[in-house]
Amino acid sequence: MENKKLASDNFKVPALPAGRPLHTSSKANIPEIKEPTSASLKNTHDKKNAWALTDFDLGRALGKGKFGNVYLAREKESRYVVALKVLFKSQILDADIEHQVRREVEIQCRLRHPNILRMYGYFHDEKRIYLILEYAKHGALYVLLKQRGRFDEKTAAIYIRDLTKALIYCHAKKVIHRDIKPENILIGHNWELKIADFGWSVHSPSSRRMTLCGTLDYLSPEMIEGKPHTYAVDIWSLGVLCYELLVGLPPFDAKHSNQTYLKIRYVIIKYPEYISEKAKDLMSKLLVVVPEHRLPLTSVLQHPWILENAPEGVPPPVFNPENLHPNDKH
Ligand code: ATP
Ligand code: MG
Repeated sequence: MENKKLASDNFKVPALPAGRPLHTSSKANIPEIKEPTSASLKNTHDKKNAWALTDFDLGRALGKGKFGNVYLAREKESRYVVALKVLFKSQILDADIEHQVRREVEIQCRLRHPNILRMYGYFHDEKRIYLILEYAKHGALYVLLKQRGRFDEKTAAIYIRDLTKALIYCHAKKVIHRDIKPENILIGHNWELKIADFGWSVHSPSSRRMTLCGTLDYLSPEMIEGKPHTYAVDIWSLGVLCYELLVGLPPFDAKHSNQTYLKIRYVIIKYPEYISEKAKDLMSKLLVVVPEHRLPLTSVLQHPWILENAPEGVPPPVFNPENLHPNDKH
C-alpha cells in the first residue's frame, strides 16, 4: 500500500480537484481485458487477476495528450517496457467522453497488427485510468515530419503502404479509425509505422472534433457536412496524409477554417512541381468527393506509385540524429 502511494506520487501531473468515480452502473459493460501479447508480460499477468500501478516502475514522461500524460514504464517482474497513458476520471467525466474512452479501450485491445499500436490492458484507481500501451520507441510521426520538413517519395510510399495495410485490417474488423493524421501515428522500434489513438474510432467525430481541436484538415467532405459516413472516410484521410508527408503541409491548409472548408468541399488542391505524376495520380484517386468513388484500399497497394517506391518487403527508413537536423531540410 505504501509503495502504491509513493509510486502514484511520482506522477508529474497538475493537482486536480477530487474526481468523481466513473459511473458504477456502466462499469459492468466493459469486461476487464487481460491479454498481453508478450510471453513474459503474459506470464506475470496470469499470476494476478488485474494490473495495478505497483506492478510498474515509472520512467520519464513521453508526451502530453489532451486528457492525460503518457509515461515510460517497466513491468517489475518481467522487466517488459511499456507506455502508460494516464487519464483523469474527473476530466473524462467533465468532457463527457467516458463512452469514447471505453470504445478506445475495447477496440484497441482487440486489434493485433504490426502497424497498429498494441494495448495490453488497463486498470484504474480512484482518480485515474491507466492504459497499458506498446512503447513506440521513435515517437510521433508528426515530430519526425516537422524535423525533416517533408519526406522523399520512397519514404512516404512506405508509410502509405503500411498505413493502408493497417486500415485494411481495421476495416475487416469493422473498425473505422476516423482520425488518421500524423499526430496519431507513432514510430516503433524498427522504425515501422503504428496507428495509435482509437479515441474517435467507430464513433462519429464530426461535430466533436471541430469543437475540440478546431482543425478540419483531415476531415472528408461528408464529415464536414455532417452527412453519414463510412469506411471511406479513412481512405480520404490516407490521401490527405500522403500529401502532408510529401509536401510538409496538409493539402487544404488555409488561414481560416472557412477557407479550408471550401477547399475540402470542392477538392481544391495545388500540387508542388516536385511531386511525381504517379504520386499525384494516387492522391487524386483518394481525394474524391463521392465516397464510393475513392480508390479501394486493396487497389492502393497495387497502385504504380506504391509498387515502384515501396515494393513488398522494403522496410521503412532509419533516421539517425544527424539527418534529422533541420539542415537536412529541402
Ligand atoms: P490528443 O487527444 O491531444 O491526441 P491524447 O490524449 O490522445 O492526445 P496521445 O496522442 O495518445 O494523447 O499521446 C500524447 C503524446 O505522447 C504523443 O504525441 C506521443 O508523443 C506520446 N506517446 C503516446 N503514446 C506513446 C507510446 N505508446 N509510445 C511512445 N510515445 C507515446
Ligand atoms: Mg493523440
